[in-house]
Amino acid sequence: MPPLFFCYNLSLKSDRWELFSIETPRAANFIHAIIREDLKENKNGGRVCTRFPPEPNGYLHIGHAKSICLNFGTALEFGGKCNLRFDDTNPSKEDIEYVDSIRADVRWLGFDWEDRLFYASDYFPRLYEFACRLIEKGLAYVCELTAEETRAYRGTLSQPGRESPYRTRSAGENMDLFRRMREGEFPDGAMVLRARIDMASPNLNLRDPVLYRIMRRRHHRTGDVWCIYPMYDFAHPLSDAIEGVTHSICTMEFEDHRPLYNWLTDNLIAENPPRQYEFARLEITRTVMSKRRLRQFVDSGVVSGWDDPRMPTLSGLRRRGYPPEAIRDFCERIGVAKANSVVDAALLDYCAREDLNRRAERRMLVLRPLKVVIDNYPAERTEYVEAKNHPDDPVAGSRRLPFGREIYIEQDDFMENPPKKFFRLRPGGEVRLKHAYIITCTDLVKDAEGRVSEVHCQYDPLSKSGGENAGRKVRGTLHWVAAREAARLETRLYDSLLLDAAEDGGGAELGDGAEPRLNPDSLTVCRECLGEPALAAARPGERFQFLRLGYFCADSKDTAFEHPVFNRIIGLRDTWAKLARET
Ligand code: ATP
Ligand code: MG
Repeated sequence: MPPLFFCYNLSLKSDRWELFSIETPRAANFIHAIIREDLKENKNGGRVCTRFPPEPNGYLHIGHAKSICLNFGTALEFGGKCNLRFDDTNPSKEDIEYVDSIRADVRWLGFDWEDRLFYASDYFPRLYEFACRLIEKGLAYVCELTAEETRAYRGTLSQPGRESPYRTRSAGENMDLFRRMREGEFPDGAMVLRARIDMASPNLNLRDPVLYRIMRRRHHRTGDVWCIYPMYDFAHPLSDAIEGVTHSICTMEFEDHRPLYNWLTDNLIAENPPRQYEFARLEITRTVMSKRRLRQFVDSGVVSGWDDPRMPTLSGLRRRGYPPEAIRDFCERIGVAKANSVVDAALLDYCAREDLNRRAERRMLVLRPLKVVIDNYPAERTEYVEAKNHPDDPVAGSRRLPFGREIYIEQDDFMENPPKKFFRLRPGGEVRLKHAYIITCTDLVKDAEGRVSEVHCQYDPLSKSGGENAGRKVRGTLHWVAAREAARLETRLYDSLLLDAAEDGGGAELGDGAEPRLNPDSLTVCRECLGEPALAAARPGERFQFLRLGYFCADSKDTAFEHPVFNRIIGLRDTWAKLARET
């Protein structure tokens, strides 16, 4: 990954972080370089066709987003097409629920397969024909070795394999057996169809790989029509060929399968065979990126489901509130290369902040309320102060906020005996209430346990915007809500689900047998939050910046009428928050 330098500066006036330097060269993409060369040579008649080929055996994660952006993005870049194809050749693990979620996720990311939604299972009849052609050519045979024998015959990396005694069957006999396999004459596992390549090949994938197996399993699309199913390595290149895919882009673990990909297309596809290109899969710090692991979290109840806002799934990120634009930007910045690397989760956060800062309207909400009574403010009075919805976007307009004698601020924003650099409220100290007045703390009230339960203040009536003392300097500015009109809300704050993982680059699998250590503090629920009155009517999926707290999104599942639940997407990297942790 190219070096990344970025730095933030806090602007108190606008309540937001401002970026003052960043260097992210447009990330390199070696696949685009290859395609440019191909186009120069007019390969495939100048056509570019890619595909995104998920197996519907789980929900998509952000690693898949890299592949989606690469495949669909490449088609867009070169005026080509990108197909969505479900690689649904293994009915034992696949389900229609996953098909639906994958379609929703790709759409949400902003890509369109138009009328090119395909299923490998639709090609079962043609794949069967391809297998017959191999048999006719003497390039495939029906093998009756048991699974164990097959393993023993395969050899090892240092030792060549041995040829199966069934390898020399005649084409006629193979054809007859293969047809009977299809017709259900033999039990599951009794025999398989294998390619006849080279048992001495240094590449284990070429040692007569299995092409078809018998498996009596109901398929979510073809039902019980088939009792033999093709292996991925057989179905994939031929599905690519059937669709006219030109550039079949996949992750590095398929590099060793490429010779088999080419063997199949060379032997079966006469014109413009597709070609496979591998790139490094995305790994991110502090997260795991494997459907198998993610399924464990779901099944064990560690998370509430595939769309739990802590999950790195696209449905989790969506529910948490990450904008799809931010995820696309992230995928663009990480680039496409062959060397495996682990991307810092901070880069995704950075992309999210960039996007949200530009677009999210500002609101005020107090997570853990502390009552402030302004003794010199008339008890019955409510006035309205003007608040801009976005500091840099006049089109976003403004709103009016009620202000009265009793307000709430954050408990964290008051300290009785603060350290030196505490610029929030303290006895005798002054702060500005954002969009309103300067207040001075005159007294405090404690509860039976000695905790501050109420703070008393005086306000300066001339300190409001437009007033004589409006320009008066005070060090701290706090967010607040008026007590009488406040909306009661719930917020959920998140931290990473795992304590470690991926730091060693082995995030996808965490090494054999290694269990990820779960972060016991990955979810904090604040049920007593108070927000601006209009927040009561927040719609599911609506995003805001809550001043000084971060970016939030109204939960799409749990937000009910007049009971919004907000997920914190991401914090602001607030120095105040940092100070609070340090003291
Ligand atoms: P997992 O290992 O998480 O189960 P998978 O590779 O089995 O994922 P598929 O449904 O087969 O999932 O993947 C569809 C496409 O997405 C494949 O082309 C695969 O290479 C790509 N892909 C999967 N994970 C990543 C990742 N972490 N980074 C980039 N591409 C990925
Ligand atoms: Mg896979």
